[in-house]
This record gives sequence, C-alpha cells and structure tokens, in this order.
Amino acid sequence: MVDLRSQYLNIKQEIDKGIQDVVDSCAFINGPAVQEFQKELEKYLEVKHVIPCANGTDALQVSMMALGLQPGDEVITSSFTFIATAEVIALLKLTPVLVDVDPDTFNIDPKAIERAITSKTKAIVPVHLFGQAAPMEEIMEIARKNNLFVVEDNCQAIGADYIFNDGSRKKAGTIGHIGCTSFFPSKNLGCYGDGGAIFTNDDDLAKQMRSVVNHGMTVRYYHDHIGVNSRLDSIQAAVLRVKLGHLNEYAERRRFAATFYDKAFAGHPKLKTPVRYAKSNHVFHQYTLVTNQVDRKALIDFLMSKGIPAMIYYPVPLHMQKAYLDPRYKHGDFPVTEQLCQHVFSLPMHTELDDEQLEFITRNVLEFLKD
Ligand SMILES: *Cc1c(COP(=O)(O)O)cnc(C)c1O
Repeated sequence: MVDLRSQYLNIKQEIDKGIQDVVDSCAFINGPAVQEFQKELEKYLEVKHVIPCANGTDALQVSMMALGLQPGDEVITSSFTFIATAEVIALLKLTPVLVDVDPDTFNIDPKAIERAITSKTKAIVPVHLFGQAAPMEEIMEIARKNNLFVVEDNCQAIGADYIFNDGSRKKAGTIGHIGCTSFFPSKNLGCYGDGGAIFTNDDDLAKQMRSVVNHGMTVRYYHDHIGVNSRLDSIQAAVLRVKLGHLNEYAERRRFAATFYDKAFAGHPKLKTPVRYAKSNHVFHQYTLVTNQVDRKALIDFLMSKGIPAMIYYPVPLHMQKAYLDPRYKHGDFPVTEQLCQHVFSLPMHTELDDEQLEFITRNVLEFLKD
C-alpha cells in the first residue's frame, strides 16, 4: 500500500545525516531536533503551538485529558473511523456518542452531530478521513452554539487545507480548539517509528498539554495533576524535519496518483471514485473506492494474486466492534457507515507511484470488473 523504501532512497542523504547528527549529539530525548521540528511544524501549519508526543492515539488522549472532561461526559465522533478515536474516549471513561457520515466524503455529518447533542455533550471529535477535511465551518458553528470543544483527529490529513466560505484557508487540524496528528510511518507525514503531535492556538491549553505529556509536571518533580509519559524522540524528529520539507510535494504526488485512478475509473458502473469535497484540497492518505455489485473479496484476492495490495478501511463500523458493543446501538443505526464498511476498498496510495505502476493497477482492476 505504501513504498517507504523508494521514498527513503530519494531522501537518503538528508535522512542519514539527520539521524547521524542525533546519534553524535546523544541528545536522544528532547534534543534540539525535537525543538526545531516543533518550530518548523508550527510555521508550516500556521498554528501557535505544536506539542510533540509519542503517537496519534496519545495525542487524542492528552487532548481530552487537558480539556478536563469528566467520566460520563459525552464526546461525539464518527462511526466510520480508525478505532483509536473512540478508544481514548472510552479509556478515559467518557461516553463515545457515534454519528453517521456523509456517503460522498466519508466524513462526519454535521446534521447528525446536531441530533446527537444532549445536556451531557462536551466535545466533538471530527476525523478528517482519508486525507480530506471534515466540514469544519458547520462543526465550529454547532460547537459555538452549544458551548462544546472541538478536537480534530487529523491523523490522516496533515497538510490538507480547509477552505472557508469566504475563500480563506487554514490547515486541517488548526481550526478546532485542538488538533491531533500521527507520524506513524505510513501516514502522510510519517517517521521511522512512532510519533505524534498536538496543535492548538490556545496558550492555556498548550501549557496544560505540555504538562500532561510530561507526567503532569511544569516545574521539575512537582506534579500538579496526573499526566502521562508521551514524547517524540529526537531521531524521529530528525526524520520528520526532512520529510516536512517534502510534504507539499508528497501531497502533489498523491494527487497525481489519485487523478490517474479517477480518470481510469471515471463513469464505471461498478465503481464510485472518491468525491472531492469543495472545502478541502484532498491529500489522499487513502484512495478509497465504493464498489457496486462487486464481489469485493474476489476482487481483492485477484489483485493480490497480481501482486497488487488492496485493503479495506474499515471492515467493521465502530458500533459493531466487539469491545464497543453497547445497548445504545444496534445493527442498522448508522446505515451509511454500515454500507461503506461492506463496499469500500482502497488501492495503493503513496508518493512513489509512477505511470507504469498505476497503469498496471488500473488495468487489473478493470479486467476483473469486465465479467
Ligand atoms: C493512525 C490514526 C490514529 C492513531 O495514530 P497512532 O500514531 O497509530 O497512534 C488515530 N486516528 C486516526 C484516524 C488514524 O488514522
């Protein structure tokens, strides 16, 4: 699905030097590379504060801890997402409230959010799924009217712009009170291990989150609240500094692949290509198609037999996951999500796909669909 080796070989000199510098300095934790990366990411995102942490799941957890949410508080999120989004809500004994998504963009549906709000609702966690921003203007308006926090799960859309009604732009993840991202290797900005970051324009929240990631400490060995240990290490920061410099070009490469796929599958009766939402410039973390009357498993097996990886993101809606079964929810409650889980599949999407590979992939997909 990704080709990290070819990508590495193209930037090997810069990466190797960055890593070697950290090793030479032995500043493995909180070294200068981490501080430099933080500043560079703040500048890139045009956000006041970036707080590096150990992974995207921690970023979400630390956000919710910093907001002071209490057990029983309700947090609204999408029923069609990676488990981490709901996991941290459940882990903190908050109540995840799921809502359905838009069938075209796969992102959370603002009307469904409004219907899900109760007196216990404290926050909304929109997920910018597959690389495309959720409808943030509507979501922020709902949050403002109901006095709710918004934590953007931006683990899949770093670098994407949200385009406001007036034409102005902001980076996904910098519009809500807090934004979270992951630097897992296969993410759009991936390191060579685990990593994550939290963004905010709010000075108080930033201070709180810097303390939470560091054992609830502001002054050394004085612990004002219960925190966690969640750090980005210097070697990962060195890798990320190099790759941040290429992030826009990487997004262009992904769009190139997506456009190739779009053209090859345009108008096909059995495939729906990803709809591009006018308010976001898609960064294509995934290229996800919706099938129509296709034996999806046979298609994926066929592609696999040709050496083409294809994956299902995600096969099971959150409310049908064993660990999250809840008497509040039953089969049929989130029809769009349930439909998508049965019909979507994703093709290889990364920065190194060339015409020849794309031609081979699309030819084989079309060949399978012929009969
Ligand atoms: C990857 C991902 C996460 C978790 O990130 P990790 O770094 O793997 O902990 C959370 N939410 C979404 C939507 C993701 O894609």
